[in-house]
Amino acid sequence: MHNEAKLALHGGNPVRQTYLPYGKQVVDEQDIQSVVDVLRSDFLTTGPIITQFEQEIAAYTGAKYAVAFSNGTAALHAACFAAGIGAGDEVITTPLTFAASANCVLYQGGKPIFVDINPATYNIDPKLIKEKITKKTKAIIPVHFTGQPAELDEIMKIAHENNLVVIEDAAHALGAKYKNNSIGSIGDMTMFSFHPVKHITTGEGGIITTNQKQYYEKLLQFRTHGITRNKQLLTENHGPWYYEMQFLGYNYRITDIQAALGISQLKKISSFIDKRRQIAEFYTKQLEMLDAVSTPYQLLDCTSSWHIYILKMDLTKLTASRKEIYQALQKENIGVNVHYLPVYLHPYYQNLGYKKGICPIAESCYEEFITIPLFAGMNERDAIDVVNAINKVLAFYSKKQ
Ligand SMILES: *Cc1c(COP(=O)(O)O)cnc(C)c1O
Repeated sequence: MHNEAKLALHGGNPVRQTYLPYGKQVVDEQDIQSVVDVLRSDFLTTGPIITQFEQEIAAYTGAKYAVAFSNGTAALHAACFAAGIGAGDEVITTPLTFAASANCVLYQGGKPIFVDINPATYNIDPKLIKEKITKKTKAIIPVHFTGQPAELDEIMKIAHENNLVVIEDAAHALGAKYKNNSIGSIGDMTMFSFHPVKHITTGEGGIITTNQKQYYEKLLQFRTHGITRNKQLLTENHGPWYYEMQFLGYNYRITDIQAALGISQLKKISSFIDKRRQIAEFYTKQLEMLDAVSTPYQLLDCTSSWHIYILKMDLTKLTASRKEIYQALQKENIGVNVHYLPVYLHPYYQNLGYKKGICPIAESCYEEFITIPLFAGMNERDAIDVVNAINKVLAFYSKKQ
């Protein structure tokens, strides 16, 4: 008999009826109405709603300023520009992230330098950063992977000592806390994404928070072609119609339509995060005693916002590969995923000359990780289905002692 057929007969739990994705937005009638209201108003693109959204995100994260963008990647690009990253500059980041965390450096002609992760937290290891700093290093881009904050005290200290800008990629971490401070209020600039799998959504969208006016002004201008109408910034003034394009920016504007959705979603952020935390705690309680997987380690003095939940498999205890486990869980209608192939192993980065083996811990984590479903719209039954499917699949593929 095929393994598949044997698995179907194994254990008492039947296959879940409908497919459970690993992540999904929660959009209600209030959200829909707020978008419809904007469609009936005078502004569709840059009206008053964007500013309101920016102020609300700044207030929520405890930052002075916020500038919203068409997506999180554009926001990261803008932050790299505002930080003064240019041709030949080196920027330190983690390989265990979405490609955008490093691509934004390439957009500016800079060079991403990958530093390996701490095997407990899966975040960039501050102890390994120092040896990678050179005269060309300009910035550090830590990523709060899965929603658990990177070690910001150590990272900020290294940055101050070496005159580096810290741009946090907090795409996973809206609502997370590092010690007593909200993510978004700590580094020089912090990026949040509003892609539908993230904590709140605007369809596409992103934002930078900052406490520094100099960055705030650059970000605003970069978002719209490098153009300003700010009288204090103009080099000349021909009249009320006059504006100047002072550097090469982009059209990275978000719309009022999207910002209205963002404002409506932000009202629900606490319940969204509570729900994610409850499911994560349930998973940990149910799965931590399993021999073949490790549940995520949590820093005691920080608060994760639980963007994704990753199990690390001990493949020496299993008779199947990660790919077979992944496929078996998909067959159970559980939408598992893998985050992430280390950025420098993508063909584009390999062609730039990055070698396999530069961050061995991230590479081995990639081989052993599996992301299980986690989003605010899941119910108890969904979470139980996930746990049952994992128990069923792992029991089937466990090495019998
Ligand atoms: C989602 C994400 C981004 C990019 O955000 P977009 O809004 O999709 O452009 C960047 N970094 C990480 C870690 C992400 O998860």
